Amino acid sequence: MMRYSGIIYNDTAAAPGVCLTFFTQGCPHHCKGCHNPETWDYEGGQRFTNDVLEDIIRGLRANGVNRTLCIMGGEPLCDRNIFLTTLLIQQVKAKYPNQKIYLWTGYTYEELVKRYDNKTKYVLSNIDCLIDGPFIEELRDTTLQMRGSSNQRIIYSKEIVNGK
Ligand code: SF4
Repeated sequence: MMRYSGIIYNDTAAAPGVCLTFFTQGCPHHCKGCHNPETWDYEGGQRFTNDVLEDIIRGLRANGVNRTLCIMGGEPLCDRNIFLTTLLIQQVKAKYPNQKIYLWTGYTYEELVKRYDNKTKYVLSNIDCLIDGPFIEELRDTTLQMRGSSNQRIIYSKEIVNGK
């Protein structure tokens, strides 16, 4: 059964502009100092249903505001969550082909590029921005845009080569 952690429908903190932020449930990384340890348990969170998907699709354009879709964890790209992440991106893109999508992962870009499964390729080819790498407490820096620690990188789609 697919589960997710939560949704912020009007998020002005995640990325530039107004965002709809979707949190997946379940994370294998267990970074020391993680701010969302309640997202680690794969059995936690809530059931993802078709109604949730419809709420997201409506929410992305509610009140005429064009929101960026932010996907973060938990871990959106682990084995247990990548199906839901792919499904969400496919459904949103089917409705809004130009939808802007930012995705946060605890894997590094290099680790993702080494994967050969179609879902990882699909995700990398269909997002506008990847924020990569685990949170490392010793490298914590609260002044960084969109990141918690300085090892993490902001990689825009033109630099994402896999699947293109
Ligand atoms: S990847 Fe993110 S959610 Fe997972 S443990 Fe690290 S900081 Fe927490």
